[in-house]
Amino acid sequence: MSVIDSKRIVVVATGNAHKLTEIESILGASPAMSGMRFVALGDLGDFPDPVEDGETFYENALIKARAALDETGYSMAVADDSGLMVDALDGAPGIFSARWAGEHGNDDANNTKLLEEMANVPDEKRTARFHSSVVLVTRDEDGEEVLAGEGDCEGVVAHDCRGTNGFGYDPLFDLADIPGKRMAELKPEEKNAISHRRRALDDLVRKLG
Ligand code: IMP
Repeated sequence: MSVIDSKRIVVVATGNAHKLTEIESILGASPAMSGMRFVALGDLGDFPDPVEDGETFYENALIKARAALDETGYSMAVADDSGLMVDALDGAPGIFSARWAGEHGNDDANNTKLLEEMANVPDEKRTARFHSSVVLVTRDEDGEEVLAGEGDCEGVVAHDCRGTNGFGYDPLFDLADIPGKRMAELKPEEKNAISHRRRALDDLVRKLG
């Protein structure tokens, strides 16, 4: 591959095929990214996951995007980091959303823990939001440029799980915009239209100009 080709590639630091499609369709439609090819990090090699020891979603997304550039030598990478922030739990599980109950990505255990932690919290204090930070890092001879987008999706923690779509805390997340409807009851395209990731990507597109 020539140097010119490699400059038209954006490495997407995710192992999730759905996120690759979502990022490609939203960022790729931006005039600033016209003609760019989006390639999943996993399709470029078998790289170790970086240690996500940031203190914010933004910092962890930046760690992932920078690691993708270090590992591949390409000049543009995008990464996201997201999670659930519950007001009654002072913003927890936050950046620990995936591994809150111990094992990384155990959605059932995380949801059980959330129900337990919220057992005595009255309805009016069960407000929460999903947050996403999306970071685009570009490197060239002059150094590094970082652009970030942030997005939220507001809701309320329900008292039981409902719905089979989505992942993570979706079955417990009652949407503020559609009261009584759980995130896990939305079709994928409905979720993608209102999700925190969608809003963070839209924010990034606005900043790209
Ligand atoms: P990631 O940044 O997409 O890997 O998400 C980290 C963790 O946050 C996930 O494992 C979920 O527990 C939670 N999370 C992030 N986005 C969502 C969502 O859209 N629905 C439900 N849970 C989510």
